[in-house]
Amino acid sequence: MTRERAARLGAALGLLVLSVAAFELRKEFIRSFFRPGPPVVAVAAEPDSPAVGASLPAVPFLRVALLDGLGADAARGLPGLDALCAGGLDLDLDVGFPTVSLPVQAAFWSARSQARTGPMFQNSRLVAPPPGALPGAIPGSRAVAEAHPEIIASFGFTIAEPPVPPDLEPPAPLALSWSAEQFERAAQQAVQSDARLAFVHVLRIDQAGHQAGAGSPSYREAARWSDDLLGRLVAADRHVHGATARWVVLADHGHLLTGGHGDAEPPLRWVRACLFGALPDALRGARGSVRLPDLGRLAFDSLGVVPPPDSDGRLLAAVLAKASGGGPALLPRPTASRWAVAILLALAGAALGVAGAGAGWRRAPCPWWLVASASAVIFLGFPSLSRNFVFRFWPTALALPALPGLALLVATDGRALLMGRGRAALRRALALPIGLTAAALVLCGGEAVIGLATGPPLVPFATGIASAWLALLAMGALSLLPLALAGAFRAGSGRSGPSGTIDRAA
Ligand SMILES: [Zn+2]
Repeated sequence: MTRERAARLGAALGLLVLSVAAFELRKEFIRSFFRPGPPVVAVAAEPDSPAVGASLPAVPFLRVALLDGLGADAARGLPGLDALCAGGLDLDLDVGFPTVSLPVQAAFWSARSQARTGPMFQNSRLVAPPPGALPGAIPGSRAVAEAHPEIIASFGFTIAEPPVPPDLEPPAPLALSWSAEQFERAAQQAVQSDARLAFVHVLRIDQAGHQAGAGSPSYREAARWSDDLLGRLVAADRHVHGATARWVVLADHGHLLTGGHGDAEPPLRWVRACLFGALPDALRGARGSVRLPDLGRLAFDSLGVVPPPDSDGRLLAAVLAKASGGGPALLPRPTASRWAVAILLALAGAALGVAGAGAGWRRAPCPWWLVASASAVIFLGFPSLSRNFVFRFWPTALALPALPGLALLVATDGRALLMGRGRAALRRALALPIGLTAAALVLCGGEAVIGLATGPPLVPFATGIASAWLALLAMGALSLLPLALAGAFRAGSGRSGPSGTIDRAA
């Protein structure tokens, strides 16, 4: 075998290794989202929290209704909710990140940010409630869920209905667990009971959101149905308890217009929450904006329970006094040193890519990468954790949108590979993509994947981008592989040009 041919076979082997490595790394990366534990990239400290003391006087009964998946836009204009909120405290609520049902509830029931509770992206039943969670502190507390009972079963309620069947984990698909009538009857019994804490988790809005998106008639219809249900439950409670119960109504996230949630997009993070019923007069008709741990703290205060010492919940008066009470959310953020490393990696990739580029327009490194990334965004949407393709081990959904970019790669650098300009073509094709993908991984704490850190590598947007780019990198390397092999064959049959000189010239 000639040296020429051996070099080209080496390049083909390198492409195969890169493709498989990117694919396998991505699989492990996706698995690590669901690993409970503090995130690799920490949440910025809160200088003004926690403060000592209670925001609200305690009341005999607290009733909490969570309208899963109801975004702020859809919540404003629901007649029942509008009327109830008008007589109470009407809030814009920032649920934080990620916008996933179980972690959001874990944050609410423990008055911590998601990043401090442990289960950041987990949606299967927790083995133990978050330390200090409110439901476990209230003997006789009750919860009723329309579906996904593994969520309410995770927080230490004395009674959670329907009971979780032993074969439910991992969670069943989004089918409603029981009939609307059964659910409403159980919810009514819970709010009318003498339990101090009763919680109703309504899920049909989220189900409609997943099936048809927040812009669909079925989503609006599910919101209206839930609004009516809320009115009936409040009336049922008042029938028994008069005006002694305090109500908290909230949502855990919104939905994209096309359906989906999970990342930090503002329409997903910002929802509506209201307190009404037994409330200090000063709060009736008040507006404000709070973060989820602040609202969780109000639930603790309402039942006279001290929130956990590491709570992120702030005093209501302090929050409402601020011009922008929600402020920057409690989101995981890359540190300055992570940004520095990420920028260096991207620059190194760009420098190597330019060094491999040819003359004229070809000097731009990686037009294929730009085209593939742009067409993926156009056809699939921004690669946030709200998009399914970010989670799929086999990135088949990305293959078709990436096709124009991959075709460009094959036609330019692939052709150069075939003609024997191997090293330059590979540098030009892959250096910048590798640099950018490594940068995205550094920003989100991706070193957790290779065991250098524990906890999930979850950072708004960076995590989704890293997953999408790992997939594109695997596809790009794989598309070049046949051409590298064909180039090696040509080298052996004496049909290639004087590649060595061209390579050096490039
Ligand atoms: Zn959902």
